[in-house]
Order: sequence, then C-alpha cells, then structure tokens
Amino acid sequence: MKPAILGGKPVFRKAIPFSRPLLPGIGKLTPRLKEILASGMITNGRYGELFENKVKDFIGVKNAVALSNATSGLILTLKCLRLTGEVIVPSFTFLATVHALIWNNLKPVFVDCAPETYNINVDLVEELITPRTSAILAVYVFGNPPEIKKLERIADKHRLKLIFDSAQAFGSFYSGRAAGNFGEAEIFSLSPTKLLTTSEGGIVTTNNDELAEALRIARNYGNPGDYDCEFVGLSARLPEFNAILGLESFKLLGKNLERRNEIVKRYKRQLGKLPGVSFQKISPDCRSSHKDFSILINEEKFGLSRDKLALALEKENIPTRKYFFPPIHRQKFFRSKGKYNLPVTEFISRNILCLPIFSGLTDKMVDSICSAILNIHQHRNLISSP
Ligand SMILES: *Cc1c(COP(=O)(O)O)cnc(C)c1O
Repeated sequence: MKPAILGGKPVFRKAIPFSRPLLPGIGKLTPRLKEILASGMITNGRYGELFENKVKDFIGVKNAVALSNATSGLILTLKCLRLTGEVIVPSFTFLATVHALIWNNLKPVFVDCAPETYNINVDLVEELITPRTSAILAVYVFGNPPEIKKLERIADKHRLKLIFDSAQAFGSFYSGRAAGNFGEAEIFSLSPTKLLTTSEGGIVTTNNDELAEALRIARNYGNPGDYDCEFVGLSARLPEFNAILGLESFKLLGKNLERRNEIVKRYKRQLGKLPGVSFQKISPDCRSSHKDFSILINEEKFGLSRDKLALALEKENIPTRKYFFPPIHRQKFFRSKGKYNLPVTEFISRNILCLPIFSGLTDKMVDSICSAILNIHQHRNLISSP
C-alpha cells in the first residue's frame, strides 16, 4: 500500500494526538472544589501545602515549593541563589531553561550534548569554566537523567552551584533515587504535557532550607510578610484548583510511567530494525519518565531526511515534534550573540523526531505508527525524489 504522501490512504482517518494528559474524573475533584469554593480559600490554602508534602514524600527531599509554572521556578531559583556572571547550560533544551538565565542577567555558556544520551556532555564542562562561572544548569532531556555524579564532582571541585531543569523528569530515577534529590535544587514542570500535572504549575525541590524559605517569599512578590521587600520576586503561586488536580494526578503517576515504558519498548522493538534509526540511550542505573520518545534519523542510512519523514507522517495523520529544533543558540533572540561550536547539538537537533507518546496511546496505535514508518521507509526512493 502506498503511503499517504504518495496518494495512499492515511493510516489514521483523522489526526491522533501527539500528547494527552492522563486526568482524573470530575467526581474525584468535586468534593474538594466545592469545599474551596464554599470557603473562599482559592489560593494560599491547605491543598497547595498538601500537594507540596506529597511531592516531598514521593521524592524523599526536605523541601518542595510549588509555583505557577516551572519557568517562574527556574527564574526564582536562580534569583534566590544570587547567581552572577556565567552559567554553563546545554543549547539542546527547551527554550525556558535559557530564558530563565536571561531574565536574571546571567550569561548562558553553551555546552555541547553527548551523542547518545542527548544530555549535557560532562567531559566538555570543565574547559568552559572561567572565574565568572557561578553555576551549571543541567537538563533531564526527555526525562533522561544526566550524569549526575560526574556533575557533582565538577561542581564541588570548582565551587559552582549545580541546578537541574527537571521539568520533564517527574518520575525519573538516577541510581535508585528519585529525580528531585540532586544538586542545589531541581525544578519540575506540572504543565499538561508532563506526567504529573496541575494544568499549569511547577515545583522546586531542594534540601537547602534557606533556599526553600527564599522561594516561598519570592513566589509571593518577594514579600516577607511585612511588605518591606529585601528583593524583587514574582506573583507565582500555585492556585488551589491546580493543587487539587495535582493531588489526583499523583494517583495516576504510576500507571502513566508504566504505560509509557511499555509504549517505548513496543516502539523500539518495531523500529529498531530500521537502518539509520537510533534511540536515546538511557543508562542501566537510570529510569526515564519518557516524557517524550524520540528517534534519531541518519539521513544517509535511512534514505530520507527527518523533515521528509515528519511530513510523510503528517500526511498519515500522525503528528510529530522536532524537539529541540532549533537549538537555543540558533533561535532569533539569541543567534546574534556569537559563534558556537556545538556540532553534536546541531546534528541531533537537525535529525531528531519525537513520536506520539501518552498513556492513552494503545498498542494498536503504536503498531500503526510503526507500520507507517516502515512503509514510508520502503517507499523512500519515490518520496525523496523531487
Ligand atoms: C516544560 C518545560 C519547561 C517549562 O515549564 P513550564 O511549567 O511550562 O514553565 C522548562 N524546561 C523544560 C525542559 C521543559 O520541558
């Protein structure tokens, strides 16, 4: 059968979702929603605190501070740590990682990523350290933990703060410990594309009590309680509605993680045979949340470019995402700022394609997506010819 891009019938009659949150039924939410509407406590209430405690217990960390989103969490964490000068950060990340630096007048110093894990290449970090460097901001790309032990060693040796953009990593584990236990702080997103969701929201975990206290003030305009601010904050609290949703979302996390794991295995089993297709490497002592599932296309071996494959899949009503393309140093807001030698970042960014993944994706749908890719590959010569 011909692929849709060559005039065949699309694999799906209409577009399937790329991602879809796993949400509780309304019945689970109504008693608490009724309660807060009746009491008028719709922010700064007990559900926000309950949600923070739940996260704290799950991760096994001393403090968890909930915020309006991960971006405000990143901005305020950098602010509360009083960082200055330069911060070492990957360019292969979601834009908010670097925006948070810019909001704090910090200079991003980009480190290339590792070719197999797509995470920060720890072997390249030390050569980027200068007297102005104050921190390393590492990312769990698609939920895959970076090489934390090595990063800790470098940060200790050079007296740098180590911070993690763990936005995609709720439910990930490193060396048997949950993401959220590491560095000075980890910042999680709770937006709908992430596994644990409060609709919009974020949460910072830290064993540093002083930092946690500062963040509680920072999310409340920087107001310590007497309206006499020592520093400038944001209005970045997590509303009670969102916390209530988060408490129920928590109950679905295990199922969500498990299902994503099955989906990834199923994808890999079927796509692993294709020439020119490789997968993100997850170290055996790590577990990824699999917030995203990606394939990396080697155009020469596969016979089609990533962009052509994405277009052909779109015609099959299969949405994909080019995460993270363009990389930060190539984006309009940034690209005038200098020359960067980031060959691995550029290669991955140009050749990566994320496929649909969410807990409601059935085995049958995964199989259809895989057979569409196999079929497109079989017709690669016809598709690639102009
Ligand atoms: C989702 C995401 C963010 C932003 O999270 P928000 O809660 O939407 O602000 C930041 N960094 C990464 C890596 C993300 O995936």
